[in-house]
Amino acid sequence: METRIRPIGEDSLAEAKAVLEGGGVVAFPTETVYGLGGDARRDDAVRAIYAVKGRPADNPLIVHVHKDYDLGRLVFDDRPYAAKLRERFLPGPLTMVYSSRGAVSGVVSCGLQTLAVRVPAHPGAQRFLRYTDMPVAAPSANVSKHVSPVTAEHVFADLNGRIPLILDGGACEGGIESTVCDVTGEIPVILREGLVSREQIAETVGDCGLYVPKAGEQVRSPGMKYKHYAPACKTYLFEADRTAEAAEKLRQLRAAGLRACVLCESAAAPCFPAGSVLDLGKTPAEMAANLYILLRRAETVADALVAVRPKEEDGIMAGVQNRLGKACAGE
Ligand code: AMP
Ligand code: MG
Repeated sequence: METRIRPIGEDSLAEAKAVLEGGGVVAFPTETVYGLGGDARRDDAVRAIYAVKGRPADNPLIVHVHKDYDLGRLVFDDRPYAAKLRERFLPGPLTMVYSSRGAVSGVVSCGLQTLAVRVPAHPGAQRFLRYTDMPVAAPSANVSKHVSPVTAEHVFADLNGRIPLILDGGACEGGIESTVCDVTGEIPVILREGLVSREQIAETVGDCGLYVPKAGEQVRSPGMKYKHYAPACKTYLFEADRTAEAAEKLRQLRAAGLRACVLCESAAAPCFPAGSVLDLGKTPAEMAANLYILLRRAETVADALVAVRPKEEDGIMAGVQNRLGKACAGE
């Protein structure tokens, strides 16, 4: 199969719609990362998404809809605080997990009674969702467990030959995935940290939990148990105050003849030799936007990556720290 990258326009949208109506899948941009979308109502289309990515069959998908879509068609929504969250954050990088009406394929939620729904803010995503006029199931458009794609070229690198079409909307501004928030209980509970912070949610509705799986328990957001977001090179992760050890690791790797580089925030860059640093940037927004671009660059220029955690851990840095940890963790 030939994979084409096309800018978003009348012709490419018509092609995307025809692919989806045939049960196929296409990649499209959002403000977080690129998505791999198919008709959420069709078992065959949803299975195709899992097959293209090599995604584990117990990791449920998020359904994407345009901003005027009637949510009541898909889910039961009886929590007043959920309406406040939609009001403040949608369209945007907040995925909300509701009790499902069972209107989409059961394959989407892997048999769970809940459904994750997102309304992306990206104008290209909105156009695509309006044009195709269906609930679109979409995970990130990468090979499972690899770094999520934030450009059309990243998608091509992973999925060339496996999908017919990549709608090109330029580089994603957000850079990491949406926050996944369960809104079925008394208070919202974050299942996956992301671009909307726990602090922002708590400020909006008074309280917000963070789900931390306990040993032996069946996880509530199955995707979180997998190694994820990993570049192809070897990785070593150091805490923010361990720059001297990180510099020593870099020296050893290079002495062993490996191409090695460092990933760190701008403030830590002076601790390393000139030319060795992939600089995440200064602000949390910059670091989120740069993380996956630099993880993908690392695997092309280096055999080994020495990553140093940024100092900040709150707000959207909770999501950045989570992804960095998973990218650089062992199996
Ligand atoms: P991805 O599509 O790769 O960004 O991953 C989607 C994330 O949403 C994964 O962590 C899933 O486990 C989570 N998710 C999707 N649907 C549900 C659901 N119904 N309940 C809980 N978590 C979900
Ligand atoms: Mg993903």
